[in-house]
Amino acid sequence: MRTIIIAANWKMNKSIEEAHRFALEVHESCKDKEIPGLVPIIAPAYPYLGLLADVAKNCVLEIAAQDVSAHLEGAFTGEVSAAMLASMDIKYAIVGHSERRQYHHESNELIREKLAALQYYGLTPILCIGESLNERDEGNTYKVLGTQLEGCLRGINIHAPQDLIIAYEPVWAIGTGRTATGEQAQEAHAYVRAWLAKNYSKKLAKSISIIYGGSVTPANLGALLAMPDIDGGLIGGASLVFENYRQMIYIAMQKLGVVHD
Ligand code: PEP
Repeated sequence: MRTIIIAANWKMNKSIEEAHRFALEVHESCKDKEIPGLVPIIAPAYPYLGLLADVAKNCVLEIAAQDVSAHLEGAFTGEVSAAMLASMDIKYAIVGHSERRQYHHESNELIREKLAALQYYGLTPILCIGESLNERDEGNTYKVLGTQLEGCLRGINIHAPQDLIIAYEPVWAIGTGRTATGEQAQEAHAYVRAWLAKNYSKKLAKSISIIYGGSVTPANLGALLAMPDIDGGLIGGASLVFENYRQMIYIAMQKLGVVHD
């Protein structure tokens, strides 16, 4: 059974008080609980990482960075290294989000360097890939996903599930309120898993969590999780509201059979 990941990507939202209160509420509802098979993650803005990492101690909640430097250390003003994240007990970082590809012109090669830096310090990269609406309409979805996977993972060793999480995020579904149907997402996830099987091994491909992102809400998460290759969500807008996040954790727990209605 693969790990289900419910990851909140807060982007550049929330004051420090709001972020803190939210994390305390999650801590309060999760403390002393083990939820085998489920990892709830919050990716807040950089300045809040330390505070939230402290709240998440002794709790199933994990904190992720939204990005990382490709460089290991040195004169890179404004950058934060994987080593710095590791020293704060941060175990996950998002790389290759479509907003960074679009607004910061990040290439697959740069994303690969970031991924390698994270792995070097033992963090799990959450690698985002996904096609634009044009690319989908032109029938190029798999070609785009294959190019992104090849460009971001060439030469990258993956031995175990904690070495990589992949987030399939069709760009046309991010922040638009237009979610991929369970079937559309499943097709893309199956392609990604087959790519991993071909380029690594079947055993590894079966063990890697592939999560879906793009206008996920408590209303559509259940249908997505019902698909055989969808192992959770990377959730932007809807994750900003605590009640939504709580409900999405609950839906994942239902999927695991840990709770029943
Ligand atoms: C995201 O930012 O990764 C995302 C999927 O955003 P939203 O859920 O708002 O579409």
